[in-house]
Amino acid sequence: MNHEQSRALYDRALSVMPGGVNSSVRAVRPYPFFIENGDGGHVVDTDGNRYIDFVMGYGPLLLGHDLPESVQAAVQQYSTEGPMYGAPTEVEVELAEFVTRHVPSVEMVRFVNSGTEATVSAVRLARGYTGRDKIVVMQGGYHGAQESTLVEGEGNHTHPSSPGIPESFAEHTLTVPFNDPDAARELFEEHGEDIAAVLTEPILGNYGIVHPVDGYHETLRELCDDHGSLLIFDEVITGFRVGGLQCAQGKFGIDPDITTFGKIVGGGFPVGAIGGKSEIIEQFTPAGDVFQSGTFSGHPVTMAAGLETLRYAAENDVYDHVNGLGERLRAGLQEILEDQAPEYTVVGTDSMFKVVFTRDAPDTFDGHCEAGCQQRESCPRFESCPKNGHDITQAETERWERLFWPAMKDQGVFLTANQFESQFICDGHTDEDIDDALEAYKEAI
Ligand code: PLP
Repeated sequence: MNHEQSRALYDRALSVMPGGVNSSVRAVRPYPFFIENGDGGHVVDTDGNRYIDFVMGYGPLLLGHDLPESVQAAVQQYSTEGPMYGAPTEVEVELAEFVTRHVPSVEMVRFVNSGTEATVSAVRLARGYTGRDKIVVMQGGYHGAQESTLVEGEGNHTHPSSPGIPESFAEHTLTVPFNDPDAARELFEEHGEDIAAVLTEPILGNYGIVHPVDGYHETLRELCDDHGSLLIFDEVITGFRVGGLQCAQGKFGIDPDITTFGKIVGGGFPVGAIGGKSEIIEQFTPAGDVFQSGTFSGHPVTMAAGLETLRYAAENDVYDHVNGLGERLRAGLQEILEDQAPEYTVVGTDSMFKVVFTRDAPDTFDGHCEAGCQQRESCPRFESCPKNGHDITQAETERWERLFWPAMKDQGVFLTANQFESQFICDGHTDEDIDDALEAYKEAI
């Protein structure tokens, strides 16, 4: 594959943008390919190379790159009639109504501009509501580029994971390993009365796609209830992807106090949202005292794109289509792995998937994983499936980034370059794309 144009653009970018990119995950080795355009489930780079796209903008593009006419028309209308006003519009009320109608725990919602802004505001809200400072996050969990959650360490021995964050910030953030109910119980026993909230993704989508073991979320819910703490589900990735319009909380039957959204709810435009029980969400200014504000919040173009995207998904068989393709792809990958590389495993659910290079090879496996059940005790692969990101080692991460990702790229499949990030299927993908992708995986593995 020729990448001359991308190389030249990268050289230009390097002199004006740190690392040549505007988000560090895009800085793949040896250099990123620059995208010219997209269609359906594909992208084309500036050198004319065409790829099956499983990155999907890191999750927002549920419908793919060809937006349906209704979404295009809404975006066109709101961008030509004056893109924004600094005053409320009907379309943001409509999107809020749609979200509160479908997501079980959400009675009220506030829209912001990114997933990071949503989790920052959610943490502030939980602290304001409870009058407590400490939050608990999962080791290795990711909630955007925010000071409170960029921490490393265990329990209350945490420190910032980036220069520029004062040590004192990490003092308020405690960590537990995902899927370890005993660790959570111990932490609550010691610090329960200081804990404002537990913040977790319902499925860790940034740590190799890790499913909750049976009863884990129920334990967190119970601990929060017993200690007067709030449970925050970060559904920035899983929102309107896992569990359809009810999101992952609907799929798992868990009732968080606060939910953060991003990605899909903006239909491909910058967005974030904080939803939850009215009593909590109404603590935001001006109804309450917890400060929240934003020039671009509830941007009409984003609201219109998000609303029409979700309406389209509701009125068409989008979730059946993407989840069906996901199931086919995971089953096909499982067969390839069983045959060629039983030390690896495929994880995922609904329209999320990932081949994970795990530490332990399974001894035996003679069936396919069902979508989303890889973590159940009854599964023969249960032992080898990642329970948290510690099951993915540095050597395996190197293997993914240096060998596997480039091998897939050379065969025309665009994956997230980081071993910990999920891949996504969109409505524009076809059976043929899945067949082609499976051939590429067979070759690369
Ligand atoms: N929360 C989760 C679970 C995410 O995956 C991300 C980003 O990928 C964020 C928060 C931050 O969202 P954004 O990148 O829109 O700021």
